[in-house]
Parts: sequence; structure tokens; C-alpha cells
Amino acid sequence: MPKVTIDYDKCSTSGICVDICPVGVFEKKDDKVVVARPEDCILCRACEGSCPKGAIKVEE
Ligand code: SF4
Repeated sequence: MPKVTIDYDKCSTSGICVDICPVGVFEKKDDKVVVARPEDCILCRACEGSCPKGAIKVEE
């Protein structure tokens, strides 16, 4: 299963990843973005490239 991690020291909770992920891996929860469904990740890496803070890491 892909490993998707958010560095919360960098995350500004912009929610860009929530909107850009084509399969809905991320969710906003209690003013925080969480990796809700990593098993659905298709490794497109759109989130990594679009995060303005470089807070997301995707590993195979
Ligand atoms: S790599 Fe693509 S599918 Fe995986 S979490 Fe990021 S945006 Fe979603």
C-alpha cells in the first residue's frame, strides 16, 4: 500500500490536496487535513507537486 504522509510542522491546512487528489485520499477533519484513505492512492503525485508548503510525501 502507498504510504502518504503529511508533515504537520509544514502543513498550513490550505486543503489544496483535498481538492486535487483524484481519488479522495485526504479529508479535512477538525481543522486539520488527514490521510483518510491511503489505500486508494494511485501514486499520481499531484498532491506532492501542488502542496505550497511541500508538506506531503508519497512513497510506494
Ligand atoms: S499521489 Fe495522487 S492519488 Fe496519491 S494521495 Fe497524492 S494526489 Fe492522491
